[in-house]
Amino acid sequence: MKINYLNQGMVKKSYRCSLLGHRFVETKKINNHFSEYECDVCRLQATNDYRGHKITLTSKLKDINETLFYLNLKKEFVARFYFSKKDR
Ligand SMILES: [Zn+2]
Repeated sequence: MKINYLNQGMVKKSYRCSLLGHRFVETKKINNHFSEYECDVCRLQATNDYRGHKITLTSKLKDINETLFYLNLKKEFVARFYFSKKDR
């Protein structure tokens, strides 16, 4: 069911992207190295690998990104908290 729905959406609009390429817009910044993107035309979600290449965002990658995102938040929070305390 889920797979059928995804395929239908892709078949409808992706011919434009296969001709012109996806028009990716950054939807979420994970950290300095990773971001999530969504194509403006066909709504394909993507992320980038460690070399900066765009790859399709699978649910597994989404989980990894989510984890990285929260780890980064935690890191930033700890750094800010630690340094603001140290400054005083
Ligand atoms: Zn597209």
